[in-house]
Amino acid sequence: MSYTGPDFDPPRPRRSPLRRPLTVALAALVAGALLGWGVYAAVGGPRDEGGADRAAGARTPPVPASGAPAASGDDAREPAGGSGSATATATPAATASPDRRAPSPSAPAVSGPLAGKVVVIDPGHNPGNFRYPGRINREVDIGTGRKECDTTGTSTDAGYAEAAFTLDVAHRLRDLLTRQGATVRLTQDGDRAYGPCVDERARIGNEAEADAAVSIHADGSGAGNRGFHVILPGAVRAGAADTRPIVGPSRDLGTRIAGHFVRATGSAPSNYVGGGTGLVTRTDLGGLNLSRVPKVFVECGNMRDSRDAALLTSGAWRQKAAQGISGGIVSFLRG
Ligand code: ZN
Repeated sequence: MSYTGPDFDPPRPRRSPLRRPLTVALAALVAGALLGWGVYAAVGGPRDEGGADRAAGARTPPVPASGAPAASGDDAREPAGGSGSATATATPAATASPDRRAPSPSAPAVSGPLAGKVVVIDPGHNPGNFRYPGRINREVDIGTGRKECDTTGTSTDAGYAEAAFTLDVAHRLRDLLTRQGATVRLTQDGDRAYGPCVDERARIGNEAEADAAVSIHADGSGAGNRGFHVILPGAVRAGAADTRPIVGPSRDLGTRIAGHFVRATGSAPSNYVGGGTGLVTRTDLGGLNLSRVPKVFVECGNMRDSRDAALLTSGAWRQKAAQGISGGIVSFLRG
């Protein structure tokens, strides 16, 4: 998987002065990321132990806990990981975060290091998507082609839905960023029946003129495939898509998130995509192709691996994941 994007067009600062010191920041983040890897190596986190998983894991077929339909197989259509699709259990109660009071952006004008900064958090999928196959399967224009409005997302073998995971991490992340003064907006907060579609998810970040946007996911890959990866937008220019101005800043954002994620969670970068870097560049995701603001996807782990699933279903681990993502965002926004 190529992750050295064609940097034929240096990213142009768009609005925020914080974009200017990108070169300096890039050097800093590389150091930071290396520190992260070093810390990881020192801690000696688990890697490549999928064989044991396969032997020990009870490979029961996914059981839709609430009558969800069978998988629509989106993972197969997105070979590099990306938005998974299997069953959704629609258990909004699993979102343990108490922070469900604000349906709209967090209160602005809060003091703190991120005062004045806007962050859009995109909790991948929607717990209700499986109830609306017709709506979420309809195709939308992603610039480079057409793609489903949205997918149901994957789940653990025990039925913990990716959509519940993404919303929970989004709430935790919102809390962390709001405390630092950022204005945070979610693309969905369990407050709509399905979706939004991927084009709208991108549009929400654009219209908010977000300084950073992050889409939260967990993957649906094979057992034994472990670890997190951050998906960066590749350079595309087609139709409504023109990612060239955001490729550089998004790489900066994603690299910082990867470094902080390692340190906060102790998880290793993916052992199945990204060549051990935890970074993957893609040009087939509408949520990235249509973004005009720095944006990345974070695939926090593989729900289909029993050892990763044990992490993803832990509230304490999800808090660490949110802290890692937050740390990367804060680092990016503060330059
Ligand atoms: Zn997903």
